[in-house]
Amino acid sequence: MPDFPAPLPPHVPVLIVGGGFAGLTAALCLQQQGLDYLLLERHPSTSILPKARSLDVRSLEIFRELGLAEALRDAGRPLAPAWGILRGASLAEALATQPPANPARLTSPGQQAAFQALAAQSPETTIRCTQDLAEPVLRQAAEARGGDLRFGYELVRFAQDASGVAATVRHRATGAEHQLTADYLLAADGANSPVRRALSVPTTGRGSLGHYLNVYFTADLAELVRGREFSMFLLREPDVTCFLLTINNADRWALHLRYYPELGQTPADFPEPVLLTLLRRVLGTPPEQPLRILSVLPWEMTVRSVEQEQVGRVFLAGDAAHTMTPYAGKGAAAGVQDVHNLAWKLAAVLRHQASPVLLATYQAERQPIGQFYADLSGDMADADGLIDPTKMQAHGPQLLGLPDYTYRSTAILAAGGGPTTPASALPLAGQPGTRLPHLWLDEAHQVSTLDWCRGQWLLVASGEAGPWLATAAAATLPPLVHELPSTARPAWQQLTGTQPGEALLVRPDGFVAARLGAGDVAGVPGLLRAALGW
Ligand SMILES: Cc1cc2nc3c(=O)[nH]c(=O)nc-3n(C[C@H](O)[C@H](O)[C@H](O)COP(=O)(O)OP(=O)(O)OC[C@H]3O[C@@H](n4cnc5c(N)ncnc54)[C@H](O)[C@@H]3O)c2cc1C
Repeated sequence: MPDFPAPLPPHVPVLIVGGGFAGLTAALCLQQQGLDYLLLERHPSTSILPKARSLDVRSLEIFRELGLAEALRDAGRPLAPAWGILRGASLAEALATQPPANPARLTSPGQQAAFQALAAQSPETTIRCTQDLAEPVLRQAAEARGGDLRFGYELVRFAQDASGVAATVRHRATGAEHQLTADYLLAADGANSPVRRALSVPTTGRGSLGHYLNVYFTADLAELVRGREFSMFLLREPDVTCFLLTINNADRWALHLRYYPELGQTPADFPEPVLLTLLRRVLGTPPEQPLRILSVLPWEMTVRSVEQEQVGRVFLAGDAAHTMTPYAGKGAAAGVQDVHNLAWKLAAVLRHQASPVLLATYQAERQPIGQFYADLSGDMADADGLIDPTKMQAHGPQLLGLPDYTYRSTAILAAGGGPTTPASALPLAGQPGTRLPHLWLDEAHQVSTLDWCRGQWLLVASGEAGPWLATAAAATLPPLVHELPSTARPAWQQLTGTQPGEALLVRPDGFVAARLGAGDVAGVPGLLRAALGW
């Protein structure tokens, strides 16, 4: 049996399975925590397909924290803005009926005003950056920061007991197998998650909304489209049901063509000549229009989520835990948020700074949110699995992706208890379980309160930090104490409804663990211990 190109470690604290958005972000978050990991991805590279086209506000906040928001923005810059859904007998016909230079087709003026009010609650925005452009940015950063990422390696099988996880890993090019152990396994292995299946974790939800062929192709339609840029074109005719996604609104496109296994159809029924004829039919372009198919990938649109995201030492994240239609733009975003929630907890438990019960808060906090996004995405699909534009309008503000949900778990010290709720807690005002409010700290609007979040516990004083410093330092995991510039304090106190003697205790993922009154100064170490599950 040939050797591995580079030896694998015999033991790692965290084994990440999957090198998509969730796995790569997990790598970066664990690195931020200073924790060693091994990431396995069975493919030789990151996604060669555009798939996800946009990242929401919360994802960008997380990538800002990881120092990658600008790099992702840059990577997506060549992609033109794309708003609006077109329908018609062909794309050419639909475009012909569009008035030119109408970039705001998606939203009404009322909605645009609502978006602006929401946007003021974050230092970040949504961005357009397709998956084939974004994932290499994450991979390169993780590798440059010293991570152990192995592309072309797959998890073959695993077993766990109370002391750890034993894994068999295969190098796909050589077939060589290797045994290793890990303290924890993070399954970011996608919609068909072999790890989830091996654990027999059931899923619930609306289920299958149809089978599609993702046909990624080039066609220079820049002249046809200019001034009428759009996001999606829907076609539902007796001979073809599909949606066309714009990639750069010039020469790259992704056609998602519905096919019907229940009628005996398979991807083999769509060889290239058939697909080229269908593409011309959908586009409504003349036969001489050059078209080139880059790749074809069958996929099933499903809305499913697990009710159990932790099984012993194994955690499910991203599509492994919840699958969605693409219409809410939340698939990648939910996975990014999952692993950001989990990484600091794994680090704290592995360093014996937190009780292992802290890990159970991952499920308590993230499962309801993953399920909510999955169901939301399903609600936006009609009976044929195509997007319902009126539902998209109705859900508009939610699609922005402000983290407006409220976590409830033992890691949130809130009166009242109850489960994590996706119900909007906007405006974010420092309520326990919500993301730290954003306030610009400089006139140039470059530095936000969120920029204090760097994977560590924080104590944000509403007035002078002095009284909190000694007591924070006495904690086993001392929070960094921040005070606002005096000019920003009135705005902060108004935003959070706090008094000068009060403070917010903020977790490493930027969520408020507790609101502290002046009488809590001496109790900070105890409160922190409680949030850490001791
Ligand atoms: C058409 C389309 C448009 C979309 N648009 C958006 C959007 O605009 N915004 C958004 O947020 N989301 C969008 N999504 C959803 C998004 O693409 C997915 O939710 C996201 O990519 C899931 O990331 P993941 O890391 O959880 O899983 P994946 O990206 O599927 O990664 C899982 C990885 O695990 C690997 N793997 C599996 N088993 C093993 C094993 N045993 N060993 C090693 N590796 C293994 C796989 O090879 C795969 O690379 C869209 C999806 C589609 C199809």
